[in-house]
Amino acid sequence: MLVPFRQQRLSGIVVDLHGRPPKVQAKNVISVLDSAPVFNEQLLKLGRWIADYYLAPIGEVFRTMLPLGAEFKKAIGYRITDEGHMALHLAGISGSSARSRRTPQEQLEEFRVLDYLAERELVREERLRAVANASKSLLAGMVRKKWITREDFSQAQDATRKVKIAVLAANSEDGKKLNDNQRTLLEAVAAAGGRIPVDALRELDVPRTTLATLVKRNLVSVEEEAAEFHVSAIKARPSPFNFQFTPAQQDGLKCIQNGVAAGNFGGVLLHGVTGSGKTAVYLAAMRSVLESGRSSILLVPEIGLTPAVAADLHQVFGEEVAILHSALSDRERAEQWHRIHRGDARVVVGTRSAVFAPVSDLALIIVDEEHDGSYKQEETPRYHARDVAVMRAKMAHAMVVLGSATPSLESYFNAMKHKYSLLELRDRVEQRPLPEVELIDMRQEFQETGSEQVISRKLSAEIKERLERGEQAMVLLNRRGYSPVVLCRSCGKSLECKNCAIALTHHKRARKMECHYCGYTAPVPQHCVHCGSEYVYFLGTGSEKLEELLHGLFPQARIARMDRDTVRGREDFERMLGALHEGEIDLLVGTQMIAKGHDIPGVTLVGVVGADIALGMPDFRAAERTFQLLTQVAGRAGRRDVPGKVVLQTYFPDHYAVQYAAHHDFAGFYDKELRFRSWMHYPPYSALANVLVRSDKLDDALRWSGALGRWFDKIRHEGVRVLGPAPAPIIRLKQEYRYHFVLKSSSREKLNNLLRSMLAYAAEEKIPRTHLIVDVDALWLM
Ligand SMILES: [Zn+2]
Ligand SMILES: [Zn+2]
Repeated sequence: MLVPFRQQRLSGIVVDLHGRPPKVQAKNVISVLDSAPVFNEQLLKLGRWIADYYLAPIGEVFRTMLPLGAEFKKAIGYRITDEGHMALHLAGISGSSARSRRTPQEQLEEFRVLDYLAERELVREERLRAVANASKSLLAGMVRKKWITREDFSQAQDATRKVKIAVLAANSEDGKKLNDNQRTLLEAVAAAGGRIPVDALRELDVPRTTLATLVKRNLVSVEEEAAEFHVSAIKARPSPFNFQFTPAQQDGLKCIQNGVAAGNFGGVLLHGVTGSGKTAVYLAAMRSVLESGRSSILLVPEIGLTPAVAADLHQVFGEEVAILHSALSDRERAEQWHRIHRGDARVVVGTRSAVFAPVSDLALIIVDEEHDGSYKQEETPRYHARDVAVMRAKMAHAMVVLGSATPSLESYFNAMKHKYSLLELRDRVEQRPLPEVELIDMRQEFQETGSEQVISRKLSAEIKERLERGEQAMVLLNRRGYSPVVLCRSCGKSLECKNCAIALTHHKRARKMECHYCGYTAPVPQHCVHCGSEYVYFLGTGSEKLEELLHGLFPQARIARMDRDTVRGREDFERMLGALHEGEIDLLVGTQMIAKGHDIPGVTLVGVVGADIALGMPDFRAAERTFQLLTQVAGRAGRRDVPGKVVLQTYFPDHYAVQYAAHHDFAGFYDKELRFRSWMHYPPYSALANVLVRSDKLDDALRWSGALGRWFDKIRHEGVRVLGPAPAPIIRLKQEYRYHFVLKSSSREKLNNLLRSMLAYAAEEKIPRTHLIVDVDALWLM
């Protein structure tokens, strides 16, 4: 319903009806928006559980659960203009201009606004003000400067979604002087037949401003076309049911169907090695639920829901399926929500927030790749969709299936304790064997070759062999950019981000230094910024440099790179996989992205370079993440007719995460890792919360964390270990200083009670709530 609140009209949700008159003077409701309740009893209860478990305000929880913002009020949105892109680009190059009348604070706020908008379409005002910390007057000033435009959000959402198309002008061949970037871009438009989506031009590694310049010179124009999400670049695929189920798949399906038929809560951990056909089991189970007239939800990780997957789902479920992905506009999302709420769509597939889909008579929730980090929301409410799925299934007396080739420690532990039944698919479909893994000790490689190698002799020889046979290979390096560190040999200092305590990464083709945490960019230094010395060295290797090295070694090979610089969305992701599928790429280089996705076609060789980066991180989940990544990427090796091979280069050949991954020994790894967690009192043996105190003023961050530290010392917190205050591993991030506490307890109730008392104390001490982050079951302690 719509209610008056100060000067505004806000929408609210009725959570309770009672007959007692209020103690304060109350205002009247303006209007009732829905004739039927938007939440049923179960979802209301689920919302209360989330607010309680994650210590999140209930209003924020309901807002997250109910994607109907577009219907409630006239909303304002902002969009970046070409001038805005130009200003952002210049800010990166010149830093703060001395002539500017704006204060450094205002410049920073403007930078944040542009930086946020640069990667996005129309952004809602509230969202922008929250993430960029920008005032209304600042935004108005930026509109006057024509850096951004102010639009009616709800109107814009009415129209069909548009994509921008770059169109070659007729006079583009006049011999005007062009620089390299401009020529590259013009050639790309011409090569595409004169019309190409602007998004596709991003792959070119030319600055965004190049297009703006060409438009100004009337060499290219930009038009808009209606966008179609469902159009897939890849040809129609065979039906997922078009093969014989293995006995293991049949057993798995039977077990899920029996559970659903029993009508009680039940959990299943479906541990299936990569390529064992889990998806076919999910779809078959969901189809039988649909046939019995009940509902099911399938959650998939962020990158997994590509247009091709959507096409598969439509093929299997027709009009009965609702697909919720992040490319939907608010309005489209609301439409899907209503379809589900009315019962028109009883099969729901979506990313994280689809766990709140208002289906009735829920029988089955499946969480695919349940170990994936994208299920955890990294803003309030900081819920984990897998854990919410389990709770929702419990409340609905439904079945929950958690599937993965590399289950999280938490889920595996629950299966060991018989909270879930464990289903295993040990064999790949079509009897494909698991790949052979060869470990290369890079310390020995260094001794034998006398210099630090990126690509070992063995990996190079194996790649050569594959290329000669006309087969495909992948090489993983989980770090993007060209070199991760720039170091001065005179004073020993490195080049850090202005906003974060993080070294800037060199991006060679884009000719810039970039912070991978806040997006700040700076010019590539000729001299040390600290002492002026010329002896600046670029150290280490990222995926861009690896690609270049491979080009040098294999000049004939067609090499592509897949990382966040070349893949901006799931359509790029799918396009690149399609090219691999079609044999247009011989060698794919990339970050962990190459290990993800349902339908990565088999290649015969996977090389792993720098697999140990994560093992050096101060994070108790480092071994788990490394094991998962190595296992997932190794799973890409091997085709129907050719067995796969993995060459795993490492500086830690004896580390158990590396060893167990190399031997495909899941049980061995979990056994060892569980002993470590138990010994250290880490999850799953204790509940953990990260409390972060942050402020752009170091004094405030120190004072507030100090006050909380003294409070923890003073009160009795029996049964809860409190570590801190300590500087967070990244002590400064996006201009904010960060101190944190880690709380651990074997009793979740004690942990949450202590956190609640702490929040009450913080409120007394006037520590602003936005400067205090409570992250229950935190995945990252950085
Ligand atoms: Zn220096
Ligand atoms: Zn930064």
